[in-house]
Amino acid sequence: MKVDFLDPGHTYRAIKTDIDAAYQQVMESGFYILGDAVESLEDTYANYCNVKHCVGVASGLDALVLSLRALDVGPGDEVIVPSHTFIATWLAVSQVGANLVPVEPRANSFNIDPEQIEAAITPKTRAIIPVHLYGQPADLDPILKISEKHDIPVIEDAAQAHGASYKGRKIGGHGTIATWSFYPAKNLGAFGDGGAITTNDAELAEKIRILRNYGSRKKYFNEVKGFNSRLDPLQAAMLEVKLRHLDQWNNLRKEQATVYLEELQDSNVILPAIPEWADAVWHLFVIRQPERDKLQSYLAQHNIGTGIHYPVPSHRQQAYADSLPANGNYPFADQFAKDVLSLPIGPHLSTDQCRYVAKAIRDFSAR
Ligand SMILES: *Cc1c(COP(=O)(O)O)cnc(C)c1O
Repeated sequence: MKVDFLDPGHTYRAIKTDIDAAYQQVMESGFYILGDAVESLEDTYANYCNVKHCVGVASGLDALVLSLRALDVGPGDEVIVPSHTFIATWLAVSQVGANLVPVEPRANSFNIDPEQIEAAITPKTRAIIPVHLYGQPADLDPILKISEKHDIPVIEDAAQAHGASYKGRKIGGHGTIATWSFYPAKNLGAFGDGGAITTNDAELAEKIRILRNYGSRKKYFNEVKGFNSRLDPLQAAMLEVKLRHLDQWNNLRKEQATVYLEELQDSNVILPAIPEWADAVWHLFVIRQPERDKLQSYLAQHNIGTGIHYPVPSHRQQAYADSLPANGNYPFADQFAKDVLSLPIGPHLSTDQCRYVAKAIRDFSAR
């Protein structure tokens, strides 16, 4: 048996006729920037997330940058981010010139620790960015409480959490803004780059709508110094088709995660913990194993692809060598870089393939 870690072409092949039709419709429409296809995806995705507004942008990183801009976060301001995340969360803060204040995860979790957020707040804190890492919602209620108490907006980085729920309510409208990526490998992925923001705040949505399009509401009239960061209508049209299948694909991920959780119980790996309030969508299924590199090679020998998310923590990246955040050490982020391993998961796999992966890991444990 062979188990690919990823197969980005799988979902295209599965629904090729509908994707091709959506693509063709945009091609024939003659509208290649914004327009009906983008507006339609925005409406559909806002509905899906149960929020009032969605604005399509060029990428998940841009969604974060534009959100920070719309909240007037800039030089001299502090933004709380997880120490353990994909680098984009950090880069967005750096791009607007604000200072990073990384906060470690809660023990037994990959997500930011609300208690340590409270301790990291200063008079300069202007935003808190929890990340729903690996498709697992962060513990939002205590974060929102802190946000209210200190009047600091929350930007949820939901790039890995399309369709996830926190306490029975879809991710997308709990905080001030949620940001999304449609990078091909995400749970809802385009055939190229794409991103979006969702919010219940009409004013913020409008600000981002203007910012993404040269700071302009009306062509050639520029209200603010904006960007060119628009969701491509071809991508929007194809995303709208894929969105109809998202729940089904997420359900497959959940079934596969259940197989891993059950069949790896007696192995020597640390399994992801699932809080009872989380309905996770398993963008990644991440285990921990002190002999991670050995396990990864062992699985590769058995034709099983795996990933490491992420091999270098943000604070050890060369990009931050000369501008390290001032608030100390990040032992969890360092530890995870050494021992996390992402198992294959996604709509391209069968549960039998996951059983094969689990068996190989049990064999590795017993060797
Ligand atoms: C993918 C991702 C992003 C960035 O999205 P892009 O569309 O690749 O720019 C941001 N944050 C997290 C947590 C991500 O996983």
